[in-house]
Amino acid sequence: MSQEIRVRFAPSPTGPFHIGGARSALFNWLLARKLGGKMVLRIEDTDRKRSTPESEENIKNSLRWLGMDWDEGVDVGGPYGPYRQMERLDIYKKYTDQLLAEGKAYYCYCTPEELEEERQSLLKEGKMPRYMGKCRELTPEQIAKYEAEGRKPSVRLRVPPNEKIVVHDLIRGDVEFDSNGIGDFVIVKSDGIPTYNYAVVIDDSLMHVTHVIRAEEHLSNTPRQLLVYDALGFEKPVFGHVSLILGTDHTKMSKRHGATSLDAYRQKGYIPAGLNNFLALLGWAPPGEKEIFTMAEAIQEFSLDRVAKNPAVFDFKKLDWINGQHIRKMSAEAFWELAVPFMKEAGYMTGDEDGAKLEWLKKVVATAQTQIDYGAQIPEKVSMYFSDDFEFENEEAAAVLKEETAPMVMKALLEELKALPELNRDTVKAAFKKVQKANKLKGQQVYMPIRVTLTGNQHGPELAEMIPLFGLERTEKRILKSLEKAGVSL
Ligand code: GLU
Repeated sequence: MSQEIRVRFAPSPTGPFHIGGARSALFNWLLARKLGGKMVLRIEDTDRKRSTPESEENIKNSLRWLGMDWDEGVDVGGPYGPYRQMERLDIYKKYTDQLLAEGKAYYCYCTPEELEEERQSLLKEGKMPRYMGKCRELTPEQIAKYEAEGRKPSVRLRVPPNEKIVVHDLIRGDVEFDSNGIGDFVIVKSDGIPTYNYAVVIDDSLMHVTHVIRAEEHLSNTPRQLLVYDALGFEKPVFGHVSLILGTDHTKMSKRHGATSLDAYRQKGYIPAGLNNFLALLGWAPPGEKEIFTMAEAIQEFSLDRVAKNPAVFDFKKLDWINGQHIRKMSAEAFWELAVPFMKEAGYMTGDEDGAKLEWLKKVVATAQTQIDYGAQIPEKVSMYFSDDFEFENEEAAAVLKEETAPMVMKALLEELKALPELNRDTVKAAFKKVQKANKLKGQQVYMPIRVTLTGNQHGPELAEMIPLFGLERTEKRILKSLEKAGVSL
């Protein structure tokens, strides 16, 4: 039997959940679901100053909202917990004691000032700054002296000099590093808390992670982690570093380009299906030309050998287009739910509506589904239903009403509409046709003046849908007001 695939997503809860984090989580999740493996969610909270419980909650909520679940980890538990690094200090300590006893690690008593001095002098000599091993071979007397001074030691890993360290990366191929450029690095800080490069190895190993899929930013950490694997005698997982995300100007994606937190997109009314589809395409593509797909389809198609090495560009226009495509596919009910908070915010509803008013609101909202790319665009698309004040969009629009046939069309239309037993899409359409036929006009000669008198614009949603939503009274009011403004009398 082949080995079970085990992947993990290991965020640091130090701020708003980043879209890059969501992309890493997604690739891991797709891989696990594709191969029937397990996904672990581990919280790397060793940065005491910056980690917060709120950030952890935000990450978990975001993952759940996107529809990514995890088989083991915080909140759900599992056989290799705890899954929060600060709850694992005794585990790390056991391995640190072992490395110290074996002489593979040692205490370093250098103060931050001394280390900075060394760094500066190396830089001055044009050398790569790194720890030169001052505390590598301390005598018991030196140690006693430092201890007497009250210095708190950190623990450093003894890094063998002159070694090539090769990261076999599933996505990037072999990437070579030189151990001389690394130097003995800190694995446990003087406050007893392990560093990322150390804890991550112990955790990935004890949690039986088979594939470490993470962002390219971590590639330079990987040789350090390989050294820790070697020192501890642990079996190594497979690594895959997913490319950087760039802005459209091809510099690293940052707030300068637009929102980078998942929350910002959620608040603007992007939907999970759209975001997931877009994030999946940041570095991966299914075979063929297909750009719009569901997560179920992505699971079917996902494989790491279709994950690209070159950077992915975060194209906002593409995100909007993709999200819009998924919005079109939503059920009417789901679209309504997406709209409600935006409608409330715009003051178009309170949430207490019921009966005919609620039905009307739902129909109004439904008109926006084919027109928008994300929820925050809804109020603007339906604003005309909430106010009868509008201006002609430009002179060209106003000029439509000056055409010879316009007054006749509008007069005939109002008569037809008034005669209808009920205003709905079909009856209104029939009324349009009747006016056109009776007066032997072209379609444009009928639809344009109607559109302009009703909305002030030359383009917009379907008129036969709009008129029943305005109702007869408001339809007449809008038409007459526009004609008056244009100086046209019936
Ligand atoms: N805690 C690290 C981060 O959030 C995880 C890196 C890793 O996946 O190894 O960047």
